[in-house]
Amino acid sequence: PEPGTPLLRVEHAVKQFGGLKAVNDVSFELRTGEILGLIGPNGAGKSTVFNLLTGVNPATSGRVSFLEQDITRRSAGQIHRLGISRTFQHVHLLPELTLLENTMMGGYARARAGVLRSMLHLERDEEAALQHEALKQLQRVGLGEQAFELAGNLPLGQQRVLEVARALVADPVLLLLDEPAAGLRYGEKAALVELLRRLRDEGVTILIVEHDMDLVMSLVDRLVVMNYGEKLAEGDPAEVRGNAAVREAYLGV
Ligand code: ADP
Ligand code: MG
Repeated sequence: PEPGTPLLRVEHAVKQFGGLKAVNDVSFELRTGEILGLIGPNGAGKSTVFNLLTGVNPATSGRVSFLEQDITRRSAGQIHRLGISRTFQHVHLLPELTLLENTMMGGYARARAGVLRSMLHLERDEEAALQHEALKQLQRVGLGEQAFELAGNLPLGQQRVLEVARALVADPVLLLLDEPAAGLRYGEKAALVELLRRLRDEGVTILIVEHDMDLVMSLVDRLVVMNYGEKLAEGDPAEVRGNAAVREAYLGV
């Protein structure tokens, strides 16, 4: 898709868990080539938004469209194959496997229908192709030289980067990052920001949930602010910083 064209559209999304509306009438748009931040206090509904965009936990009502297609009720595998990849709030790596093997995991859902079936029946040439792609993505994020080390031996900052590499194996149009800088040291955060900027410049559109305000404000083009399941505000970093409702609800000033 051309830079600046609408890529993802969320319209009046609601996600209800029993009596709780974890996401309540949220609408926003994401344009090709931008980095959009999704921020808000704990429990605001940010991860739930990710889950309804990725088919993990579909919306109760409302509509999600991606590349002009209605994906509201599509399965996680279908959405992944259409070009949306994600990382999780908590590191989802297999510590006993190598970086290369962990990265390859990101390709199974796209290469084949079901993760289990593919793990059992991946053809040898498919495996070689996936291995090649995984190595390419490890090199892209700067972890190529550690491809055969165990993921569990990496410092947290590099584990987060490894998760990005795994998400990139599927060649996503849109990358969703759920708190990728959580627990990282200052230098690790700087390296992550540099990587995300580079990926954006290479054409990957990014939606990021992140609590580190300095990091978010310096990285994103626009922000959507959530509170108690609702969209509280939207705008560029300066607009959001100056928004009275945001300052009260979130920034606490
Ligand atoms: P955030 O990521 O902004 O911290 P979440 O999206 O994780 O917030 O959670 C929003 C609200 O929805 C919270 O009150 C949380 O307890 C609730 N919630 C999230 N997932 C579920 C679930 N699977 N079942 C019931 N309640 C949930
Ligand atoms: Mg969350």
